[in-house]
Amino acid sequence: MLTYEQARRTVIDQVEKAKGPRATATLSVWDALGFVLAEEIKTDREYPPFNRSTRDGYAVRVSEIAAGATLRCIAEIKAGDTVTQPLAPRTCVQIMTGAAVPPGADAVVMIEHTNRDGESVRFDRAAQSGQNIVPRGSEAKRGEPILSPGMRLGYAELALAAQVGAAQLRCASKPRVAILSTGDEVVAIDQEPGPFQIRNSNSVSLAAQVRLAGGEPVLLGNAADNTDDLREKISRGLREDALVLSGGVSMGKYDLVETVLKELGAEFYFDAVAIRPGKPAVFGKCGNTFFFGLPGNPVSTMVTFELFAVPAIDLLGGAPPRDLPIVEAHLGATLNEKQGLTHFLPGRVEWRGAIPEVKALPWQGSGDIAALARANCFLVVAADRTRVDVGETVPILLRKDVI
Ligand code: AMP
Ligand code: MG
Repeated sequence: MLTYEQARRTVIDQVEKAKGPRATATLSVWDALGFVLAEEIKTDREYPPFNRSTRDGYAVRVSEIAAGATLRCIAEIKAGDTVTQPLAPRTCVQIMTGAAVPPGADAVVMIEHTNRDGESVRFDRAAQSGQNIVPRGSEAKRGEPILSPGMRLGYAELALAAQVGAAQLRCASKPRVAILSTGDEVVAIDQEPGPFQIRNSNSVSLAAQVRLAGGEPVLLGNAADNTDDLREKISRGLREDALVLSGGVSMGKYDLVETVLKELGAEFYFDAVAIRPGKPAVFGKCGNTFFFGLPGNPVSTMVTFELFAVPAIDLLGGAPPRDLPIVEAHLGATLNEKQGLTHFLPGRVEWRGAIPEVKALPWQGSGDIAALARANCFLVVAADRTRVDVGETVPILLRKDVI
């Protein structure tokens, strides 16, 4: 059985192999959050476009400043002012943060290090050449590439595009990810479940996870546990870039997802991973569509999506696959687990000190959505560990949607 790292590698290798050109669309910078850029963006001018003061203070000539020196202040420069006049000898000008430093001045002295009496400014200490000035062109030259194809657009990337006047951005179209739940017991969330039925919460979590990963969810509802209904709905799902199924991949008599996919000509790259929850997870390709058959217990569905489906959506969307957000924390309470599978336990991490501390939350197993809703990470217990002691360093997989 593959480890989760090997299974992820398999997903990345297979999807990378199949990568082709993607459709693109032009979006306003206001609407492009989370999209993947499909063009190169270059600067329209130098940045900063002028020698910019980073402090409120006085623009000076360093050679005229020593502890106790005084200069006459002859003008004031605000951010946005046009500045062409050179600084006259034996004078200084008051300058604001973000304003242009006048020609001839080679430092800005913070207002806190000066004393003013009328026109006369007294300096507490010597100044160094270039202090508190960002030189013109030092952040970027004119025509320099600053955003490249494949970059995911977060708030800083969008601000950078806006700064250089790129108000419209050519982006890769989001991969369309069909979501199909399975199970005779599952009813739509707007229906009243019978005493032995459950609402289709998996389609809701999967749609949210698809969106967070940068995909476009395509909701196909639920298929009953019979081959006809599964065949029809799976075939519909195979028209999209990827298909994510929940349920029907375990060993039960009515777990028919793999049977139907096989009938439809699917190729399977794995059908089990050495993890708990989530062991029966399936990944393969049918026609041009990658599919993930995720076990139906809600926490299993969520964990396996994060581990295996997210990198596929990255690649299908034209971006490199993101690493798993795994960091280290100190274990807050001793844990005992069965050996043989890597465990992903709902955990709560807190940053009280320099090193975060994590505790596993009490839970009733992989059906316990409430436990995961109290968690902000998964505590990862390696397959060879039966006991992890309080104070040990353990890996945690962050829930980036809530942290
Ligand atoms: P399965 O993987 O099909 O054996 O499903 C395991 C269990 O997961 C089922 O018995 C349900 O309790 C639960 N389950 C399956 N599908 C869903 C769903 N769409 N939403 C919420 N829970 C589900
Ligand atoms: Mg089922």
